[in-house]
Amino acid sequence: MADPDCIFCKIHAGEIPARIVDEDERTIAFMDIAPATRGHALVIPRAHARDLLELPAEDLAAVALASQRLAARLRERLGADGVNLLNSCGAAAWQTVFHFHMHVIPRYSDDPLRLPWVPAEGDFEEIAAAAQELEAR
Ligand code: AMP
Ligand code: ZN
Repeated sequence: MADPDCIFCKIHAGEIPARIVDEDERTIAFMDIAPATRGHALVIPRAHARDLLELPAEDLAAVALASQRLAARLRERLGADGVNLLNSCGAAAWQTVFHFHMHVIPRYSDDPLRLPWVPAEGDFEEIAAAAQELEAR
């Protein structure tokens, strides 16, 4: 269940301090130590799972619901104008802590965060080729 080398398992076990702001049967939520904006929190499953692809469906559902709950609270209590949910799956996708977590990042209309890519129309044939490989079969 728990990984002895995992810092988020240690937070869950109370071995590393964290500011917990929400919990339920399957999840806990605590403040990110390096917040992107004021109120940035992380929701984790209590049971260790490395990433999105290893997370059991019941825990994914519980994390989604806990993230929604926290998003509403960020708007009500901290006056967030919007919220980003962010999950990084794999080092190539910026994951640095390998216990699944959902970032719940409150957004303020005047905050400095920007999209990490520049939206520009893609090549239609290349999009279609990717779609063909991606389609369920
Ligand atoms: P990621 O890069 O998506 O894996 O996110 C890991 C997040 O965990 C980062 O935003 C870190 O700031 C945060 N983090 C790392 N260690 C701690 C800790 N001890 N307490 C709270 N947040 C942490
Ligand atoms: Zn863990």
